Amino acid sequence: MPEAPLDLPDFVSWPSFPFEGDLRVKPLDPVVATEPARQGEDGNGCVACAAKDDAYIWVSDRWRVRAMDKPTGLPMVLILESRSHLDLGDLPNLLAAELGVMTVRLERAVRSLDGVARVHVNRYGDGAAHLHLWFLARPHGQLQLRGSFLSLWDDILPPIAEERWRENLALVAAWLAEFGGRALAEPPRIAWQAPATLTDSNPIRFDDDVDEVAGPAVEEHAAPAPVPAPRDPTSLPVVAAPVT
Ligand SMILES: [Zn+2]
Repeated sequence: MPEAPLDLPDFVSWPSFPFEGDLRVKPLDPVVATEPARQGEDGNGCVACAAKDDAYIWVSDRWRVRAMDKPTGLPMVLILESRSHLDLGDLPNLLAAELGVMTVRLERAVRSLDGVARVHVNRYGDGAAHLHLWFLARPHGQLQLRGSFLSLWDDILPPIAEERWRENLALVAAWLAEFGGRALAEPPRIAWQAPATLTDSNPIRFDDDVDEVAGPAVEEHAAPAPVPAPRDPTSLPVVAAPVT
């Protein structure tokens, strides 16, 4: 005999809840005796370990920061990863202490962006075994986006402009590089058209003249991470590609 559906929780009436209309709670699946392996469990087939540095916006000896592969609804969504294949509970003291420093540093960097009021820091760890923390920027003034539904809103809102997104990536990367490591994200190129009288001039690239924004960007690479990772642990494809 089917069980009676669970009551709807109070949060469906919160202003931050993104949906309205008739809702009902899904029936729960049976409990499994053995959980499936996460992506990269035991280091096998780990996407993060296989990713090269140029898939990241900033790297250091022990940490890397990646972005999504394209703009999303929030001003900034980033992932902090350890370079070593470790999970949160495996971190030796040095990395555990550095994780605190990196978390604070990255929070400040993202919060420094125009239009960002708050930075949410999430760690789920249900989909991929390699340690990764999410940093999501909550837009200033958008009170309805406060709280735990922010990552849902990120998928609901229209993507921000590509140029602004690339500027934000470069600013965060440069901020982090102030403390060490290498910034790999560059500001967007501006193909500036020279006046007609200067007929033989080449288009001036923004990063030719203004390099203090990008910091020591040592590689000719502006593309952010190619591998977006779903962060809804309940829908995370465990074996199917590309997750972290
Ligand atoms: Zn790994």
